[in-house]
Amino acid sequence: MSHRGADEKRLAETLSSIGKKFIVLSGKGGVGKSTVAVNLAVGLALDGKKTGLLDTDLHGPSVPKMLGLEQFLTSGDETHLEPAVLYDGNLKVMSVQFLLKNLHDSVIWRGPLKHAIILQFIGHTVWGALDYLIIDSPPGTGDEPLSVAQTVKPDGAVIVTTPQEVATFDVRKSIDFCEKLDLPVFGIIENMSGFICPHCNRETAIFSTGGGRKMAEDLGIPFLGAIPIDPQFVVKSDAGKAVIGNGPSTIVHEAFAAVINRIIQ
Ligand code: ADP
Repeated sequence: MSHRGADEKRLAETLSSIGKKFIVLSGKGGVGKSTVAVNLAVGLALDGKKTGLLDTDLHGPSVPKMLGLEQFLTSGDETHLEPAVLYDGNLKVMSVQFLLKNLHDSVIWRGPLKHAIILQFIGHTVWGALDYLIIDSPPGTGDEPLSVAQTVKPDGAVIVTTPQEVATFDVRKSIDFCEKLDLPVFGIIENMSGFICPHCNRETAIFSTGGGRKMAEDLGIPFLGAIPIDPQFVVKSDAGKAVIGNGPSTIVHEAFAAVINRIIQ
């Protein structure tokens, strides 16, 4: 069997032991896509679900930093990549960062190589049996989400946007991408939706509010929740911690819990 044929066979075997697969997409960078992917995966793991989190953002992998894993190097060989294991074994994480010898090395690859590494990441990572695989992707509709859509065939896409039209305009392209690839859109999350001032308790719509909800309604797509701007995201992710599972319950925790319940149901 050719190298490629062997990779594809291995991929099919690996996918057969994974329950549900979700890809997290956004039209733009910086809207909180990795934050959502990390917190969804952690929420599922805390709920006792065997969860994999695959970071396919090859040029800007944020997942390791957000989980305090930026120094983690995978062991095993290229056909048995050992993921980082967290939350009592319930969360397994793989990222290109785990293959880089130096913390700040960049990845300079063209499309075909990216496709090959994504196939390898999914097929050759020692995931074991998983209930859920959450796949973080770079913003937009380029090589990485295309490879995932065609090879993994996720059960659904979770689309993350901020509320303003400049962001929702690009998200429409992500939805078009899903339609063209027969990838079901699981729903839209509106992140950075308003800011409640901790001093005066008044809400300021820094990036406007309601744009994600309106787009979901216009397109007949489920709206999964609005997450406000909350400085705890920056503080915690810079410290390598998820927001979910850390600190008292807030509107943010409730929004994630609602999405996780929908995924589980
Ligand atoms: P993307 O994956 O879309 O590029 P990230 O998840 O890396 O975006 O988030 C970009 C930055 O915004 C990070 O510093 C993250 O901590 C912060 N962030 C994400 N969501 C929120 C939020 N709701 N409130 C405040 N900061 C947030």
